[in-house]
Amino acid sequence: MSETRYIFVTGGVTSSLGKGILAASLAKLLQSRGYKVTIQKLDPYINVDPGTLNPYEHGECYVTEDGAETDLDLGHYERFLNETTSQANNVTTGRIYQSVINKERKGDYLGKTVQIIPHITDEIKRRIKILGSKGKYDIVITEIGGTVGDIESLPYIESVRQLKWELGSKVLVIHLTLVPYLAATGELKTKPTQHSVKQLLEAGVQPDILVLRTEYDIDLNIRKKVALFCNVALEAVVQSINVSTIYDVPLKMLEEKLDLTVLKKLALPIKEKINLSAWNSFLTRLKSPTQTVEIGLVGKYVELHDAYKSIVEALIHAGAENRCNVNINWIHSESVKNDNYTKILSNLNGIIVAPGFGHRGMSGKILAAKYARESNTPYFGICLGMQVAVIEFARNVLKLEEADSTEMTPKTPYPVIDLMEQQKGITNYGGTMRLGAYECRIVENDSNVFRAYNKLTIHERHRHRYEFNDTFIEKFIAGGMVPVGINPETDLVEIVEIPKHKWFVGIQFHPEYRSTVLNPHPLFVDFIKNSIVEEEK
Ligand code: GLN
Repeated sequence: MSETRYIFVTGGVTSSLGKGILAASLAKLLQSRGYKVTIQKLDPYINVDPGTLNPYEHGECYVTEDGAETDLDLGHYERFLNETTSQANNVTTGRIYQSVINKERKGDYLGKTVQIIPHITDEIKRRIKILGSKGKYDIVITEIGGTVGDIESLPYIESVRQLKWELGSKVLVIHLTLVPYLAATGELKTKPTQHSVKQLLEAGVQPDILVLRTEYDIDLNIRKKVALFCNVALEAVVQSINVSTIYDVPLKMLEEKLDLTVLKKLALPIKEKINLSAWNSFLTRLKSPTQTVEIGLVGKYVELHDAYKSIVEALIHAGAENRCNVNINWIHSESVKNDNYTKILSNLNGIIVAPGFGHRGMSGKILAAKYARESNTPYFGICLGMQVAVIEFARNVLKLEEADSTEMTPKTPYPVIDLMEQQKGITNYGGTMRLGAYECRIVENDSNVFRAYNKLTIHERHRHRYEFNDTFIEKFIAGGMVPVGINPETDLVEIVEIPKHKWFVGIQFHPEYRSTVLNPHPLFVDFIKNSIVEEEK
């Protein structure tokens, strides 16, 4: 075993306290002190991956370079650390059981009764150690999904208990809890934290550090009380107060000296003075916008903003880069109709039609693309949003009435978007889309995408089954919508543009997954830049 250290982040009291942001913030601080850090998420549900989950249930499905469909927290890890993650960074209970059952079927357990302890916990521990054993990381932070006390989390907590025993001081447990404020008495209450720590103790795990989510400052007396009742050192009681942007959390954790406490407890030296200058200059730009731009985000999951997490964050990065506040207008595609679309869309400086699946809300998305095209409003069609732009152009410009994607109308007379050859015959829905990073060549030098990227070869991540049907290519080019990005191996059309339009870009891939604080995505930056100019006119 190498000297890799393992930090576990568990959560208590309620869900949604922000374990992912805490893990990412701590990782950022340790990275800024010269350590190589990665983060992993263990999800206690039975799905093998979140690819088959409805976004309403679990928010966006985040896709990694290697094509893994993962939890949206991995997006935070990449955006904070500016480093890519992979399949190994997200493991679900379904995946753990799948490996154990496959081994059992192969006879690998030599006739033994296969049990949660040790077989499931061994598989969990193996998955945790995979990242450490690569020798690439000094520290692996593992976030355990769910809340302590849930039946589903028990095997994970048990694995942490075993690892603490096996690896001793190389393991550290951080428990994130809530300290609610009772308005009636004006008090912050620590009892839920005490109970949740007791639950961890019942499972044999003593947390080393407690991070308390709170709306108000937690004073020394309360910290002392929590330290006393929960057997942790006073310096190991850390508050995480509400902030206006998640990108402030690393700075708040720095104020609380969380990074120093962690290094001390793991017996690691303070190698470098912390360097957060690039991060801080991003925050300065983010907090001092000189103008506002109104962007319409048209999709069918808009009630749950987490369904478009990476797009929202990419817009925040692009806004900061342009010193501009991006005001997202959430537009439900089903609410956009023939008799209201100009009214709904006319105050917008730019329109995004979001990725998606299935025909619900399609007519509203098509109207949004039509409005953007006709009014010269910047249009950014992402994945399904590109397909929508192609369908709209076919119907209204090329006069191919009833043109559609075969996903929506299998028997359309003009299948301008069709199933990819390699997708035909696939009946198993899990993990079988075109997934992960592929090369794309930009073919037109004077296109908006070329100006944005300023290079001819790019790599972007995909998640789709359908594609632009190239039997229609000549008609589109003649009509004024041109393919400007092509996959060099398969010739698939990855990007279309309308050269006559100010900024009309449809892309088959998902650029939002690659936007980070330190590297805002060039397409988002350029889209916002062009939307601003529109406003100034
Ligand atoms: N439903 C479309 C496809 O499968 C688009 C997918 C997406 O937007 N991610 O091709």
